Amino acid sequence: MLVPANLKFRWFLINAGVGVVLTIMITSILTQVATHRIEYQVGTGLAEVAHQMSDKLERGMFERYRDMQVAATLIEEMSSDESFHDEAAAMLATLQQTYPYYAWIGITDAKGVVQVSTGNLLEGQDVSARPWFQQARENYFIGDVHAALLLEQKLNPDSGEPLRFVDVALPLQSAQGDYIGVIGSHLNWAWANEVSASMTPSLENYEQAEVLIVSSEGLVLLGPPELRENPLPVTISEQLRTSNYVVQEWPDGTRYLTGYAEVTEYREYQGPHWQILVRVPVSNAFDPVEELRIQALWIGSGIALILAILGWFSADRMARPLANINEKLEREVRQRTAELRTSNAQLEQLATTDSLTRLANRRALLTAADAMMERATRRNMPLAVLMLDLDHFKRINDEYGHAAGDEVLESVGQLLSSTVRQIDIAARTGGEEFTILLEDSTVAGAVMVAERLLQRMEQLYFGRDRASFNVTLSIGVTLWEVGERIDKAFARADAALYEAKQKGRNRVITA
Ligand code: GH3
Ligand code: MG
Ligand code: MG
Repeated sequence: MLVPANLKFRWFLINAGVGVVLTIMITSILTQVATHRIEYQVGTGLAEVAHQMSDKLERGMFERYRDMQVAATLIEEMSSDESFHDEAAAMLATLQQTYPYYAWIGITDAKGVVQVSTGNLLEGQDVSARPWFQQARENYFIGDVHAALLLEQKLNPDSGEPLRFVDVALPLQSAQGDYIGVIGSHLNWAWANEVSASMTPSLENYEQAEVLIVSSEGLVLLGPPELRENPLPVTISEQLRTSNYVVQEWPDGTRYLTGYAEVTEYREYQGPHWQILVRVPVSNAFDPVEELRIQALWIGSGIALILAILGWFSADRMARPLANINEKLEREVRQRTAELRTSNAQLEQLATTDSLTRLANRRALLTAADAMMERATRRNMPLAVLMLDLDHFKRINDEYGHAAGDEVLESVGQLLSSTVRQIDIAARTGGEEFTILLEDSTVAGAVMVAERLLQRMEQLYFGRDRASFNVTLSIGVTLWEVGERIDKAFARADAALYEAKQKGRNRVITA
């Protein structure tokens, strides 16, 4: 047996649908997992770069701090000497040569007047108001980035970008341990650019990565030009501080994945609390996810197609039982419908037929009469009414028994149905009374039929061996008149029948 095409197609669609749903589910799960993993990997990678950067800055600052400590010790030893100025100047010059980012190094007396300095710059000037001097009188000082102020003119006359310094300063003591002055240095902030540039190899894996250094006051010290010198435009959230990376939208409308580290302290020294951010646009960071998603969609679509094709070819096997069930159901429905039709017909029969004589009952007669009157009117045909009653039937019952009476009635039923035409109707309208309607029949025709019935009735014998007795009939005949109710015709026929009884029975009387 063949599986119907639409069932097969449905099976194909179900398979394809399952494939598509699976693909979408798997792709979305994969994408989510991959996004999460990449966010973690790239995020921790960026945080690591930020941490390396902060480490380099801390070490750099710590080295300058050690430079100043060594210089302070040397100065303490040479302080009483008459050639102090030249010796100290030579030492500071050497120091500057070893580390070119020293923009300026100087030694002040106890009151803050510069005694010795690199390039003799600011010698004799009072710097007592400067924070590095004031702080370093008590303890060491490592300040945040600031503008060059006094030295801007002298060191940077062609002023491209303004000079910016980080200060490192320490107190000087005499051999006896008395405070005698301060050694201070200005570190050119360009140093941080170099540190930042040194991170480039670590950032090679991250397209469009940018490094930002934020001062302890929240200003961007180093980073993209549009952000530099301005407050950091995003807040450093608690999440960023604890997990060291975060995905966040910046005011330029771009979502960035940002790694984070803080410059804290290094050994006994404490420097400014810079914050390092390394950011990558999320769209770049998640490029691999997009690739993965597209791959997964292709693979998934392939699987869906394969499933669908398998479905198509397995449809015969899978759908055959369904088709079988389908066919069985249809067969059963057909059978039940037929049964129902039969029993309906039987019910109809019961409702319209007299069970003893098998003739129509009164109800069926009236229904048929309506149709016959309608036809008679339309085709201008006569319609004859015959009313029959068995003669002295009470006696028959009395003499031969009720069962014999019934036997007579049954025979009369057979006689009537075999005598009238298909288009006519014969009905049992009372116990032993019958009514016949003859379509397209004149009075003469009706009388002929009635006479024939009387004759045939006389020839029927009943009782034991069907030879004991016979029964006669009386018949009243009339024509239905167009437009009148059928009852009226019945009443006329009944009157004629009465007359037939009166006149001696076993006869036909016409109204
Ligand atoms: P008449 O010639 O004047 O018609 O005399 P009748 O005895 O036939 O009188 P009537 O028609 O009044 O009587 C009807 C009788 O028919 C009454 C009843 O005993 C009998 N009968 C009616 N229905 C049945 C039936 O279903 N079976 C039998 N066996 N007898 C019936
Ligand atoms: Mg009667
Ligand atoms: Mg009678």
